[in-house]
Amino acid sequence: MHELAVTQGILSVAIDAAQQHHARHITAIDLVIGELSSIVDDSVQFYFDYLSQGTPAEHATLRFQRRLVTLVCLDCGKRNTNIRPPVSIQNCPDCGSTRLQILGGMEFYVESIEVDEGQYHPLYVANEGKCLAIVAPEWSESCAGSNASSSPRT
Ligand SMILES: [Zn+2]
Repeated sequence: MHELAVTQGILSVAIDAAQQHHARHITAIDLVIGELSSIVDDSVQFYFDYLSQGTPAEHATLRFQRRLVTLVCLDCGKRNTNIRPPVSIQNCPDCGSTRLQILGGMEFYVESIEVDEGQYHPLYVANEGKCLAIVAPEWSESCAGSNASSSPRT
């Protein structure tokens, strides 16, 4: 169970971002969670309710966006998206290769926050810019690499 540490990360990221934008209150936090990241929404919500007490993020709504798994074939380059775990595909459906790489589904990051002016502040839009923040270092690669993931072979 690493949701406690993860939730502390979410909270500090959101508060930092709010302060940078001179916002007093955070009303919502958008989280992107890959289906393979083993994060349990309810646990994050539970810890968040506790940790956010007395902070600018108290009573903020957590919005969870689940991302399904994307695999790319290292031989033919075919991408297979929207796969639900457990990932049971052993062979590329196009060429039969077994050299498949996970491109998506392990990500976990704060995509954006909403602050008390009632305006939506998209601080990070998936695949179009850099992350607002990487919450957990072990997932930093899938987060930071969301732009570069079109070329799995280096
Ligand atoms: Zn293939």
